Order: sequence, then C-alpha cells, then structure tokens
Amino acid sequence: MHELFILGGEILKTLKSNGFEGYFVGGCVRDYYMGRTVNDVDITTNALPDQIESLFPQTIDVGKEHGTIIVRISGVSFEVTTYRTEEGYSDFRRPDRVSFTNRLYTDLERRDFTMNAMAMDEDFKILDPYSGKADIADGIIRTVGCPRERFGEDALRMLRAARFSSQLQFDVETATQDAMTESAKYLEHVAVERTVAELVKLYGGKDNLKAKHVLVKTGITAHLPFFKHVCETSFLKTRPESLLEEIALQIWLDEDLYDALNTLKLSNEMKNEINQILKLSEDAAHEDYLMLAYSFSDRILSVASSMMGTNPFFSSSLKVQNIAAAIGVKSDLPIHSQKDIAIDGKQLMAYFNLPGGKWIRTIMEALEEEILCGNLKNDKYEIMKWMDAHVEIETGHIKIIKE
Ligand code: ATP
Ligand code: MG
Repeated sequence: MHELFILGGEILKTLKSNGFEGYFVGGCVRDYYMGRTVNDVDITTNALPDQIESLFPQTIDVGKEHGTIIVRISGVSFEVTTYRTEEGYSDFRRPDRVSFTNRLYTDLERRDFTMNAMAMDEDFKILDPYSGKADIADGIIRTVGCPRERFGEDALRMLRAARFSSQLQFDVETATQDAMTESAKYLEHVAVERTVAELVKLYGGKDNLKAKHVLVKTGITAHLPFFKHVCETSFLKTRPESLLEEIALQIWLDEDLYDALNTLKLSNEMKNEINQILKLSEDAAHEDYLMLAYSFSDRILSVASSMMGTNPFFSSSLKVQNIAAAIGVKSDLPIHSQKDIAIDGKQLMAYFNLPGGKWIRTIMEALEEEILCGNLKNDKYEIMKWMDAHVEIETGHIKIIKE
C-alpha cells in the first residue's frame, strides 16, 4: 500500500519543485487513515491539465475538460486532477459546468462526504477541513455541507452513502439520512450504469444487510430500477454476496421480476450468470449430479452452493446434496463439453456416409450421456464399436437402440 504512495509521492514532488501544489485526495486518504487496503491513489493539484501534461513524460488525457490527466509512473496510473468546483446541477446527475480553482479547500468542498474530503501530502500529513477524521472515528457518513443540496446536485451520492455503509460498516448521520429520504426520488434521473456500478460495490461490501436497511428506511429502493418492483419483505429476507445473487434470489421469490431485469442494462455475461444460477437451482431438484457437474461451471456450482447455505428458501437437502456431489466429481468428468468427445460431426458424416443434419446432434447427445455415465470410453474406436451396436439407419433415418 505504501508503495503506491511512494510512487505517487514522486508526482507530488515534481509538482512542488515546479511551483505547484499537489496532494493525495479522496478515497485513498480515507482508506490510508483507516488502515484499509489502498488500490488506487488520486492526486489533486492547482496545475492545469496542460501544465500536468508538460511536467510528466507519460500522460493520458482522459478528460481534460474536467481537469483529469492520467500520469503513468513505473507502469502505475495515477489520476491527477486540477482543483475544481462544480456548478449548476440542473438534472440531479452531473454538473453543467466545472471550473478550475487554485484553492485546495474549494476542491475539497465539492466532494461528497467528510471522510472523502481529506487531502494528504507526501509526508502523510493529512489536511482535514471538514472533520473527516472525527466522523471516521465515530463511524459516520456525513455529507460535506447541506445534505439536501448535495443530493440535489448529484443523486448518486445517496447510493454512494449506502454503499459506504456496507463497505465500511458505518452509519449514515441523521441529517444526511433524512435528506436521503427527501431526495430519494431524484435517483430516477441517474444513469442506470452508474446506479449498477454502485450497487455492485454495495453488495460486494462487508455488511450489505446494513446498506439494505438504509435503502429501505430512506425509501430509496422504490426509485431504483428492478428493485422498485421488489417487495420490502423479500428484499430484507435475502442474504446475497453480490448484486447478481440478489437479483437471482429476488427472481426466485417472484418470477414476474424477470421482466424487469432488462431495466438494469446488465452485460450479457452478468445476465447469463443470473440465468445459470436460476437454472441450476431448478435442475438440482431433479437432475442427476453428473449432469449438473457437466452442465454448470465450477463458479456457478460454488456460487449456488454458498447461496443455498445462507438462503434457506432457495435451498433443499436434495439440491444441496446434488450440488455438493457435482462439485466433488466435476474435475474427474471424462468430458466437459461435446467438443471433448473423441469423434466429431465430420467424422460421423464420413462414418455413416450421410450428409449433415439433425441426426448428428442426436448421436452426439447419446454419446455424451453414455460417456458421462461411464458406460462408454471416450475413445474413437470404442465409440465406433458402440455405434455399430446402437445406431440403426433406416432409409436415411437414425435410431439409437438403448439397452
Ligand atoms: P473507492 O474506494 O470505491 O474508489 P472512492 O471514495 O475513492 O471510493 P471514487 O468514485 O473513486 O470513490 O471517487 C474518488 C473521490 O472523488 C471520492 O473519494 C470523493 O472525494 C470524490 N467523489 C466521487 N464521486 C463523487 C460524487 N458523486 N460527488 C462528490 N464527490 C465525489
Ligand atoms: Mg477511488
């Protein structure tokens, strides 16, 4: 962790030796002060974007108009942003204008919470004009300035408050929470991608149940895509470890919610994971564990297994046993997909001297089942022998003879 500050300190020193100010700022100072792991270090300075670019050999312009330049030092990226203020939030989600300032405290003033409005120099001396340290000591999330105004400027801050309460296990200060209740409706204006990004962090936090209570108490749930359709009892009943688990559990409790899934604009990968979890939970109640092991990835099996441990309504002893058995045999399966079968469609066409068609799938599925059950060795000649005994062709029609 200190390594990032030592590297970043090089940037602060360069800024200073060129007559500018420079500080670590925001989440990295909060996490450093709290003794938490620091993953990225942001820097704030009175140097203007062009000046930042001219001081460092490796820079990337990621939003000059907002004052942000990435400076690369020894392969590590640091966001270096000019002190700025933000004005005119006419749409509850982003400032109409940002303007640069040369006062550090003005920059800190625009930040969301007291704990996020601290700056630190290269000697680890912390500047804390809004008593962030005291709020951290008390475990409190409090806006910088009037909470109602701050949430009116950018409604996403309310979700950030909830996600910090999950990540840090902090309470939202009373006036801040009251303002969240009043301003919850503004969340409807926030881009769904930003909302989802915060929800992912919220659910990944240590104590997402704490955050869920904040969302319910303030009425925020009623203004979130998808969650606005979830009833309060169901919302508080689940114990997920990720946003995707939460969505799957809620759909399990009320399948009509499936129709609202698209409003979250999740990636195909995320939607796929939700679908797989739901399918496994259904299949595990009747499918053989070998088929479960074959059909589902290690990840889905282990996610579903842990979800069942913490969500009794999602679980049954048969499902739990089946999934545990599937996890147990997964690595010993003779094949993991049809691609692993020692014969392919082309070879089948040559073997039976037939043109391609649905029959290939019929045979592949039969082979798949026999190999998985251990009745047939995954070997080309064994497979041919098996086909001689079990596949009948009548006027171009394929029939599998089962014992
Ligand atoms: P994380 O650990 O998730 O990165 P963070 O506090 O660093 O948490 P970022 O989104 O990286 O969060 O933002 C960096 C800093 O920018 C914050 O600490 C805060 O000072 C400021 N900030 C971020 N989002 C907002 C916002 N919506 N309104 C005001 N200030 C914000
Ligand atoms: Mg950050």
